Amino acid sequence: MTQQLSERVLNMATSATLAMAAKARELRAEGKDIIGLSLGEPDFNTPDFIKDAAKEAIDQNYNSYSPVDGYADLKQAIINKFKRDNQLTYTPSQIVVSTGAKQSLANVALAVINPGDEVILPAPYWVSYSDIVKIAEGVPVEVQTSIENDFKMTAEQLEAAITPKTKMIWYSSPCNPSGSVYSKAELEALAAVLRKHPNIIIVSDEIYEHINFGEGHTSIASIDGMYDRTVTVNGVSKAFAMTGWRIGYIGAPEWIARACNKMQGQITSGANCIAQRATITALEAPVSKIKYMIDKFHERRDLVLNLLGEIKGFQLNVPEGAFYVFPNISDFFGKTIKGKTIENASDFSLLLLEEANVATVTGEAFGNPNCIRISYAASEAELKEAIKRIKEVLS
Ligand code: PMP
Ligand code: GLU
Repeated sequence: MTQQLSERVLNMATSATLAMAAKARELRAEGKDIIGLSLGEPDFNTPDFIKDAAKEAIDQNYNSYSPVDGYADLKQAIINKFKRDNQLTYTPSQIVVSTGAKQSLANVALAVINPGDEVILPAPYWVSYSDIVKIAEGVPVEVQTSIENDFKMTAEQLEAAITPKTKMIWYSSPCNPSGSVYSKAELEALAAVLRKHPNIIIVSDEIYEHINFGEGHTSIASIDGMYDRTVTVNGVSKAFAMTGWRIGYIGAPEWIARACNKMQGQITSGANCIAQRATITALEAPVSKIKYMIDKFHERRDLVLNLLGEIKGFQLNVPEGAFYVFPNISDFFGKTIKGKTIENASDFSLLLLEEANVATVTGEAFGNPNCIRISYAASEAELKEAIKRIKEVLS
């Protein structure tokens, strides 16, 4: 029969991070020795104390649907976590647990965006933001930041991007893909602009909160006047090495949380019950229990910055968090390497895949066509080998 797909799906981009990971898997299956630095996924195992909690939950017969927005004791653990780490006070009706932070973001978009509403995305932004906004029939408005400003949006840039149609601003700090962390002072400056526009909703994606090598983390909801209009998004995928468990959550104004709950009640009925039980244990643990992973990421960041810094043509910021570097590689545009002409970041990323057997992601997917993203959530040996291969191909 004739294929009759919706305009919605036809107009949607495939997630570039997931597509590159699939491509790397395919090439590996063909016998190629691919080093995968494309997917943002910790290479650690989920800590044993969390796995034990999940095993216990199975034995305790947690097998039924949970409340749509999450178990009451998990919501309490999230409330305690927000208080402990972010000085934010929420009530249970402000918390919604979802199938990954990705679903949390999709819930928010579908719950508040009307067709034509503008959503400001400081670029580079995480790959799925623009398509989630578009699925909700919103209009992504990119604000280009520069490497000189550590890929952060200034208050002036925010002010200039606001129009009568601006509904929301979305950002992540620590940022995927740039690793940039907004300081408290920088967030205060953005908040000063937003105070003049009381109806703009903020989506603050804090999923890399704990993977921070700098001065610490500030939640914008803790800044004067921001709490009542901020959706704070977080999850356990990154800091607890639980990507496949699929648990994310929000703390939000009650009217938004209620709408997300309603949305999720029609789409997923709520998150996996065993993973929710395990998440209670994860969130109740002191952060010191996961520090060994954060220390490793810090070491690897330094290693990758040193090694990539030796390659001429790689311009780098110093990421303070997450586990990515986002080098500007536009020096290579117009050059021919191994018989291939490099016109853009996608060509460059493809060159690295085909000639160096190293998978990265083009910056185009993150709204910056001059960069590529390299994930350093990989072993030191893999990182060294990958960068050696990249260097060989480029020299
Ligand atoms: N936000 C950012 C910035 C991310 O990098 C990711 C990575 N997957 C997510 C949200 C979604 O995380 P998850 O759905 O695994 O909780
Ligand atoms: N957030 C990770 C990344 O950016 C996982 C992949 C995804 O969910 O898109 O690579």
